[in-house]
Amino acid sequence: MNKKLIILGAGESGTGSAILGKAQGWEVFVSDMGEIKAVYKEELNAHGIAWEEGQHTEETILAADEVIKSPGIPDKAPLIKKLHEKGIPVISEIEFAARYTTAKLIGITGTNGKTTTTSLVYHIFEKAGLNVGLGGNIGKSFARQVAQDQRDYYVLELSSFQLDGCYSLRLDAAILCNITPDHLDRYEYKLENYIRSKFRITQNQRPEDLFVYCADDAITMEWIGQMSIQAQQIPFSIDAPHQIPGAWVADGQLTIDMNENEENKFTMAIQELSLRGKHNAYNSMAAAVIANAFNIRKEVIRESLSDFQNVEHRLESLGKVKGIEFINDSKATNVNSSWYALESMDRPVVWIAGGVDKGNDYALLKQLVKDRVRIIVCVGLDNRKIHEAFSKDVDMILNTTSMQEAVNVAYHMANKEEAVLLSPACASFDLFENYEDRGRQFKKYVRNL
Ligand code: ADP
Repeated sequence: MNKKLIILGAGESGTGSAILGKAQGWEVFVSDMGEIKAVYKEELNAHGIAWEEGQHTEETILAADEVIKSPGIPDKAPLIKKLHEKGIPVISEIEFAARYTTAKLIGITGTNGKTTTTSLVYHIFEKAGLNVGLGGNIGKSFARQVAQDQRDYYVLELSSFQLDGCYSLRLDAAILCNITPDHLDRYEYKLENYIRSKFRITQNQRPEDLFVYCADDAITMEWIGQMSIQAQQIPFSIDAPHQIPGAWVADGQLTIDMNENEENKFTMAIQELSLRGKHNAYNSMAAAVIANAFNIRKEVIRESLSDFQNVEHRLESLGKVKGIEFINDSKATNVNSSWYALESMDRPVVWIAGGVDKGNDYALLKQLVKDRVRIIVCVGLDNRKIHEAFSKDVDMILNTTSMQEAVNVAYHMANKEEAVLLSPACASFDLFENYEDRGRQFKKYVRNL
């Protein structure tokens, strides 16, 4: 009898896992509480995989040998609790797919910067001509790729929820971009739980593996000593004194030195990086450390970091209208990412912010707002906290309740040579479907100006 694999959630990762599970001889059943997208239903049918939607049939699910859970389903969901009580292993798609590939795995986590850094690493590897796949939270699922097009390398964006479902996953190289409080509702409101989840990226690593981390990140530095990390540790930093092996910035030069060998040393002017802002200097450094460690030629790394096109909705410049630059940073859904967006601004800003507040501490932004922001345009249903936080720091705070209104107001209030920056520091669910919808609407109304 084949072993029974139950997959909870039939999105891209669930469907990919089902296809891989079936190919590996499991008896697969997919169950989704919501409605399954038509494309995925067709795929499951085409592979002869059984599924249900709008319900979870407990009897079937509790008979599983192993369960793959979508990262969106919290551990405290009653069904998951029952599975734990029965001792049925509940894992993530990443854990499952990693079993069936011998490719080198590079995993990237952090509160902010995951998608950018993952895309950067992928871009460099691709330019170097390596047979590399991009997975995790981005694009085609890792499991689907393992089933359908095996690669020599996979670069994986890993959220803490995905890491929570990983037990034997071992990464050849791991990057921890940074840790700031986020998603605490899923971690019993304990920051420590979230931090431990992020450090799971190092579990099972061996001395020949790499762990790349930001030495300027306070929480990472506070906790790193308490974790039992076997991998070789490579810090990158802008503010901390430099270390070898490591990456740092001095006199405007990004430098990587892995072994005090002048010949292997990598340098590049920060000016040449295609991505703006201090946060992106970190992301570029982390990606370059990995590329350097995998012996990719320096010229390829340099070229890749200078021609990389940013991912949509991340400090994406839309160009100028009557001398006013419009920048879409809709992906900034927390205070920390908006801090970096504001920090990277080199001219006065009309800042479009607001939405669903996740317990934001705006005090962190106060100085930057005072220095760089002239006007705030709120786009959200409840903007009280923004008014309370910044009313003394800017000339004006205006309320709007749609993106069209926000763009028009910002355009009329902005002066030539200023920037209009959408970097909300909040989730988008009050007025938009998600951050992509918010960013797309911004772009549409800017185009209409
Ligand atoms: P993630 O995938 O972790 O959400 P992204 O690369 O999509 O990260 O970037 C999300 C937001 O965070 C963007 O608004 C971006 O400007 C900001 N950001 C990117 N990298 C960093 C970083 N290293 N530190 C802080 N903020 C960052």
